[in-house]
Amino acid sequence: MNILVINCGSSSIKYQLFCMETDQSLASGIVEKIGALDSYICHKKADKTYKSKQIIDDYFSAIEKISELLSDETWGAVNSKDDIHAIGHRVVHGGEEFKSSVVIDKHVLDRIKFYSSLAPLHNPPAYNGIRATKKIFPNIKQVAVFDTAFHQTMPEQAFMYGLPYKLYTKYCIRRYGFHGTSHRYVSCAAAKILKKPLSKLKLITCHLGNGCSITAVRRGQSVDTSMGFTPLEGLLMGTRCGDIDPALIGYIMEKEKLSVEEVGHMMNRKSGLLGISGSSNDMRDLSQQAEKGDKQAKLAIDMFIYRVKKYIGSYIAAMNGADAIVLTGGIGENMPLIKQKLSKELSNLMGKTMKMLIIHTEEEHLIAMDTFELIKR
Ligand code: ADP
Repeated sequence: MNILVINCGSSSIKYQLFCMETDQSLASGIVEKIGALDSYICHKKADKTYKSKQIIDDYFSAIEKISELLSDETWGAVNSKDDIHAIGHRVVHGGEEFKSSVVIDKHVLDRIKFYSSLAPLHNPPAYNGIRATKKIFPNIKQVAVFDTAFHQTMPEQAFMYGLPYKLYTKYCIRRYGFHGTSHRYVSCAAAKILKKPLSKLKLITCHLGNGCSITAVRRGQSVDTSMGFTPLEGLLMGTRCGDIDPALIGYIMEKEKLSVEEVGHMMNRKSGLLGISGSSNDMRDLSQQAEKGDKQAKLAIDMFIYRVKKYIGSYIAAMNGADAIVLTGGIGENMPLIKQKLSKELSNLMGKTMKMLIIHTEEEHLIAMDTFELIKR
């Protein structure tokens, strides 16, 4: 069975085709700048890459193009589009309703649209992408895999904010958490590496990419996570500030004469590593600059690591111990310096038994596996 995984962003679509019998990725790619004049598609099969600039107006045209390429004589991985047997979609927000992946029907699609109020930047592209995919592949099942689903096991004491309770009942204001597919994938992978069942493990999984989040995973279930109602809370990220004193928002708005949107833009796009260094949101650039003596780049890296360290400490406390800390995401996987520093600075807390593992995350693979499981039923 061949399963296509689709991840729709606001102006891009990432895709990957898997053969489930051989557990192999057959082809993958990305359509970028959908709706702009300089849109393009970048498609990979084995180690060869095809790149083509062409105007791609909308999700429908993008998915049509993807479908053509996947069955192309030279670049394709299947003979025809009928050889694609199911589709798995990454969907960011499933509210409190979706605690696991589901086959998409009209009700599910309506609810994905409904949760756009909680994820205004992320759910609308997924909704439009699913509708476009349904038109191009009308006869096959589609599955939604939610970023928030894994965190639905958090207890109330961890997901509630200390605000009036009625804000929760009226507006669903609570911690949801994100990156759930990645935290779930690396938890399962860690259990295999540690040769222990997940049900016997306490793990702290750190997804450190452009967006960063950290999760306390007890017996395979998320019991706390650093991102909150939105992905802005928690760690210092590429361009997001993470935790700040909430009173600062009003203070900054007043001092800088900013609107709600403008202060939101500042906290989401102009802060974090970029805001502190004043030069880049990219950890590779910052480590080069820090080596050359750039003080602000060094401060950004120090703050980044310090915040990760504090969260690890608090999750060890939350679970009364941990068997392993897992690092993943672009920074977690590729920057050994981060692991070295964390291991050194946490050496007392980790003792001799707690491990620190680097695990490559494969969210698309997990989306394909969830889709396969649901389709088999
Ligand atoms: P996203 O959250 O957008 O998926 P990534 O997981 O690709 O982001 O992480 C991007 C971050 O990882 C950047 O800060 C980048 O500098 C850092 N990084 C370090 N080494 C690499 C690498 N070899 N490949 C990709 N990202 C890397």
